[in-house]
Formats: sequence, structure tokens, C-alpha cells
Amino acid sequence: MEIQFNKPYLTGKETDYLQEAVATGKISGNGMFTKKCQSILENITETPKVLLTTSCTDALEMCAILMDIQEGDEVIMPSFTFVSTANAFILRGAKIVFVDSRADHPGMDEEKVDELITGKTKAIVAVHYAGVACDMEKLRSIADRHNIFLVEDAAQAIQSKFKWLDGTVENLGSIGDLSALSFHETKNIQCGEGGALLINKTEFEKRAEIIWEKGTNRTAFWRGEVDKYGWVDIGSSFLPSELSAAFLYSQLENVESIQKRRLEIWEQYHLGLKPLFETEKVRPPFIPTYATNNAHMFYLVCASEEERMSLITHLKTVDISAVFHYQSLHASSYFENKHDGRPLPWADTYSSCLVRLPFHLHLTNDEVDRIVDSINTFYD
Ligand SMILES: *Cc1c(COP(=O)(O)O)cnc(C)c1O
Repeated sequence: MEIQFNKPYLTGKETDYLQEAVATGKISGNGMFTKKCQSILENITETPKVLLTTSCTDALEMCAILMDIQEGDEVIMPSFTFVSTANAFILRGAKIVFVDSRADHPGMDEEKVDELITGKTKAIVAVHYAGVACDMEKLRSIADRHNIFLVEDAAQAIQSKFKWLDGTVENLGSIGDLSALSFHETKNIQCGEGGALLINKTEFEKRAEIIWEKGTNRTAFWRGEVDKYGWVDIGSSFLPSELSAAFLYSQLENVESIQKRRLEIWEQYHLGLKPLFETEKVRPPFIPTYATNNAHMFYLVCASEEERMSLITHLKTVDISAVFHYQSLHASSYFENKHDGRPLPWADTYSSCLVRLPFHLHLTNDEVDRIVDSINTFYD
């Protein structure tokens, strides 16, 4: 039996809640299930205000609109990320300034951010790769010093935390001025396609609701704050239907048990591959002391692109699907001519050497053992 790279997990309650949503007779957005999901998310991320969106991409587009990104504004972000991190700001006319990854981790190199700031820099977008926190202490202080925004692309980072030097622990998504989560079917908690905007600055709240509702004040109207609603700003259709929210609700109700099992799988991989990591032939996932592990992903960093290709092929022959990940955005066909030419060697290294192992809740302990054995056999 083939071991798939990803197989979306269902809690079993999804269809019950879908039927319940249909029975209410109102399945457009911002209904009961949307409110329930938003309230759970506000609790688990400890953020003051959450709006469900149709995707993380949409939540990032809302961030760009809320920060009033204009033609020529500069936004700093890692090159080793998903296209949506950049597209959301490109759509508003921003110039993207890519940062390299860290030597010890695919996340952005916080040390290289300060030197890229100019009078035109509007925001830094921190991407928590594999759900592992960026050094938010450094990024927050750079953003504050230059009086620019800090956004978290927390697509992969649900239930992950950051530990400040003073010992305080905060949830990822609650530190940036604005943050985005993803509930795409490849993420820990999913509804096929979905996301959320996390608003940590109260001055964004009113406008966020308007942008979310196609530029109208319909949300305030529903609350009885205005007697009719109309067009008051730019916006789009960023809110998901109640069907997506109903599905998502069943997942959010089970976030603790889902996370518990994901962490077990992650630990089993880590333990099984420990002797291999000790040989230093491949690098394990790295989790800095200020970060926690939300078991979003288990990746290895091979010594070369050829070795990665052979490993993926070897695993394929024993019916295991392992995959590589992002290709550096600064070197993409869309962006290569727009990039300022700075070499970003670590982003390129992870583009060519990183491999992700199957990771989903249908994996059995025996299957994880089989994957570990196959990798060990390859390196023996
Ligand atoms: C998945 C992902 C996205 C996009 O999420 P969607 O919900 O599919 O729009 C953006 N950024 C990162 C880092 C991601 O992993």
C-alpha cells in the first residue's frame, strides 16, 4: 500500500455540522459556525479579533489592503516561502525585497533584515516555516525601531509558540500587527480551502470587517450599529460560506487530540532517525530554544540535490511518497528579473536539498517505522 505524502484527516463530525448549517437555511458567510470558529480561534491564539477568510492567501491580501500598501512600497520577506506571501503584496504594487534563509533553519535570517530597510519599507512579513517560530524578539524590535508593520504568515503555525527572553510565552499569530492562518487541506487543521486573519491592533478592526464584506459596512448593519448598509471602502469577497465554517468547526473542536497525535508521529520520526542524524549525513529539523514544535511537518536536509533526488526515488520504489518544497521565489521565472541580484544561497540550498516525509493522521506507527527503515536503508 502506498504511503501518501498527505491525506486530509476527518474527525467524523464534519457532515453532521454541514447538515446543521444547511438546516439553518442560511449558508452564506458570517453565520453561527463562522462566529463559533472565530471565537475558538481567538481563544487558542489569544488574539483579540479573528475573521475567517476563504484562504490564508486572502487573509494576506487583507493585510496588504489594511496596511495601505501603495505602488513602490517595500515589503521584506523570505525567498523560501509560498507564492501567496509575495503575491498578496505584489497585487497592491509593492516591491518585494527577499531575505535569505538561516543556515540552521529554512526560516528567514532575522540578522539580515535590518540592512534591507529603506525609507520606503512598509512591512516585514515573518513566515514561520514548518510552524517553527521566527525570532520574533528581533523582528519586533526592528519593526518598532523603524516604525513599520510586522505581519506573521502563520499559515503552518497553529498552536505554535514563541518564548521571549523574559520568559513570557506567546502564541504565533498574536505577535505581529496582523497575522494569517491557513486551513488548506495540507495544514494541521483544515476545511479544504480556508484561512483566518488575526488582528492584534484594534485600530484595524473596523476597516477589516468592511474589507471582508466587499467594502460595505454590512457587518456593522447586522449588529444594528447602522440602519442601512452601503459602499464605504474598497474590499472583496473574503468571507467563507457557512459550509466551510461548519466543516472547520469540527476540526477546531478536536485541535488538542489532532495535535497530540501529530506530535507523537513527529517524535517517532525523530527518534527513529536519530542515529542517522548523528552521522551528520542529513540534517534534522531544527527548533531554536525560543520556538516550540507544532508538528506541522517533518523534513530532512540532504547533502545535495542529487542525493535528495535519489532518496525520493528510493522511497518511491518502496511506495512511499516524499516530496520537496518551495523553489526560492527570488529565482522564479516571474521574479528573477525583478530581483536585485543579491545571492540568497541558503534559500537555494533548501530549495534543492530539503525533503518532506509523509505527515498526516492516517499514518500508523508501523508505517512511520517502515518509512524510517527505508531512509536508514538508503543511507547504509
Ligand atoms: C499554505 C500556505 C499559504 C497559503 O495558504 P492558503 O490557505 O492555501 O491560501 C501561505 N503561506 C504559507 C507559508 C503556507 O504554508
